[in-house]
Amino acid sequence: MNQYLQPDNWKIIENGFDPNNAEASESLFSIGNGKMGQRANFEEHYSGKSLQGSYIAGVYYPDKTRVGWWKNGYPEYFAKVLNSTNWIGIDISINNTILDLAKAKIEEFSRVLDMKEGHLSRSFIAELSNGNRIKVFVQRFLSIVDDEIGAIKYEITPLNFTGIIEYTPYIDGDIINSDSNYDENFWNELYQKSSAAEAVVGIKTKKTGFTLCTSMRYEFHRNGKKEAVQTELVTKSKYAGNRFQAYAKENETLTLYKYASLVSSFHHKEKELEKIASKNLDIALNKHYNKMLEEQIAAWNKKWEASDIIIEGDEASQQAIRFNIFQLDQTYSGKDDRLNIGPKGFTGEKYGGSTYWDTEAYCLPFYLATAEPQVSKNLLLYRYKQLPQAIENAEKLGFQDGAALFPMVTMNGEECHNEWEITFEEIHRNGAIAWAVYNYILHTGDKEYLIDYGTELLIAISRFWSQRITFSSAINKYVMLGVTGPNEYENNVDNNWYTNTLACWTMEYTIEALNFIKNQNPEKHTQLLSRIDFNEESETLRWKDIIGNMHLPYDKERQVFLQQDNYLNKEQMLAKDLDPKQRPINQHWSWDRILRSCFIKQADTLQGIYLFEDRFDPETIKRNFNFYESRTLHESSLSPCIHSVLAAKIKNMDKAYEMYLRTSRLDLDDYNNEVHEGLHITSMAGTWMAVVQGFGGMRVKKDKVWFNPQLPEKWNAFSFKVRWRGSVLNVTTNKQEVTVENLSNIPATIMLFNKEYTIEGESKQKIDIQ
Ligand code: BGC
Repeated sequence: MNQYLQPDNWKIIENGFDPNNAEASESLFSIGNGKMGQRANFEEHYSGKSLQGSYIAGVYYPDKTRVGWWKNGYPEYFAKVLNSTNWIGIDISINNTILDLAKAKIEEFSRVLDMKEGHLSRSFIAELSNGNRIKVFVQRFLSIVDDEIGAIKYEITPLNFTGIIEYTPYIDGDIINSDSNYDENFWNELYQKSSAAEAVVGIKTKKTGFTLCTSMRYEFHRNGKKEAVQTELVTKSKYAGNRFQAYAKENETLTLYKYASLVSSFHHKEKELEKIASKNLDIALNKHYNKMLEEQIAAWNKKWEASDIIIEGDEASQQAIRFNIFQLDQTYSGKDDRLNIGPKGFTGEKYGGSTYWDTEAYCLPFYLATAEPQVSKNLLLYRYKQLPQAIENAEKLGFQDGAALFPMVTMNGEECHNEWEITFEEIHRNGAIAWAVYNYILHTGDKEYLIDYGTELLIAISRFWSQRITFSSAINKYVMLGVTGPNEYENNVDNNWYTNTLACWTMEYTIEALNFIKNQNPEKHTQLLSRIDFNEESETLRWKDIIGNMHLPYDKERQVFLQQDNYLNKEQMLAKDLDPKQRPINQHWSWDRILRSCFIKQADTLQGIYLFEDRFDPETIKRNFNFYESRTLHESSLSPCIHSVLAAKIKNMDKAYEMYLRTSRLDLDDYNNEVHEGLHITSMAGTWMAVVQGFGGMRVKKDKVWFNPQLPEKWNAFSFKVRWRGSVLNVTTNKQEVTVENLSNIPATIMLFNKEYTIEGESKQKIDIQ
């Protein structure tokens, strides 16, 4: 744990500069706009430890995988969203001494991420080695209105001198990925040009051929008035900038406004990039920084109107939930079905910006409840469009007849995980993708999706399960051998309860979907069957046999489902008895020792109970929760949120609150000692689940939305918003009552504490808490 940030309801604040926290802060203060994002690196030169990071959604590189012996089924490459052009750079020198916070004496340093308004700022007083003292205020944002533009305001006030300040605003495409497997540079230079008050750099990725054009322009102001400057052009490989000097008087404020436009061939034709970037900069200069900022604030206000959660009486919780929502909203805007959500978003290199099962299992519920249905639909279409590659992926492993195995890690549909021994057998991801189809339709009511896309994908996944599952004559049951469940602390296990349960559910749901299409649209049903050569009768016959005869490991003595056949053969220990110095075990133990231990990385059996809770009585949920939670180390960021939701369900509110804090402040308080690598973006959606599904008791079932709110003891009140079939509901719970307000003009039927209410548009329903 490392707690150095100040509490605040709307801001993340760092006071005082500690270089030991520099990289952690670069992650924590990251900004993004769905199309691009960046770590909170400094604009001016910084010679201290830093992880430079500026990322463009969708622009990736297939880095060579590092494996000694390549075997069939290994991925050929590991895709990485690339560190790309540094557009923020502004070198500053004061009377010939470079401003470098690693070398200056710093006072009154403060860094603020304003989540309400969507911008990042920094202020400090620096005394340089030549004795010159300056006061600096820097603010920047990535516009969510003009989403290919970033803007910076850089103010300097000399405090004890009159002299020369030299500025070099620049664009630098000479950047590397620090996680490159073979120290390769992934970009080739196309051009770099500099003219007065303007510079542009074009670079192209090797192999994938993505082109990125980054242009900048700037304006210089003295005491609020624009002033012309004499520029010297600076260009070198992949780099273009301007250098100019300004005569600065003591206590006079000089401001540099820098605008950059980043446009890529992911969104535009390559030959038009320069023109588009230039047009974007015309827009920026016309609007000017202040107008752009105003629009940014208004647009963020709108986002907050749809997704804010208010927690009264607990600032740490309030700050944390807003931080999580802010990061999710700035990572994925849902405008493009080719984009997805990497576990670290735009905040670091780990996980390569690729798509994991995290999206379907964790992120989808957040976007379903807080954004237009199209946003979630795009997440689903992303997978649907990658179905051909998933079928090819399964074929490579020996499956046939249209069986699909979606990748565990992917950028474009091809499998590209880096750790074969861990992730390869995590075939449970296929089930989460099927579950997402179900969840989307349940929430939005968009049953057409099932007809147009969903059923085809479900059939392909069910075909995979049906071939992957085999019959054991020894136990006279169907079995699924050699898998890895969500708990990555055991690999190649037999009959992972979660995976077996999910596989059977997928086949059940696919049969339901097929019946639905047959009734609703017989013509499309016939077309689909013939297009994918599906013999409904014989294939579903086998599925039904599997569903009825699947082996689901269970321990009669403890009356718990077994994570896998051999789980109880492991020496049974509890997490509370593990020496805290050995945690996280993945940083202290050998992999061999981890695999043999009973310790669990993240929800596994409990992940299944979370998904299928209505199948189990409260006692069963409680028994399984107590058994597994006490053995779980929560060393995946995806773990505490599921535990929080289940703990609230079984009314263990202390545990639910403990897990909520752990999930929501995971990065802010750096629980797992890794925030310097980037933020845990996908698990942030789990934090939202902990509040809305956990404390709010929100569920969607039987075509209705249900709420069963419970207030954590530390809170005075909390409220959240949920889109529900065209209406927007605001659910507020305090110590006396629950109020559900329908903010739209469409009536909504809801279940509150298991009783049905219809709330007319723009009206509310109040219920006293007994
Ligand atoms: C977790 C996986 C997850 C991945 C990316 C791993 O640590 O065990 O379940 O998909 O991180 O978030």
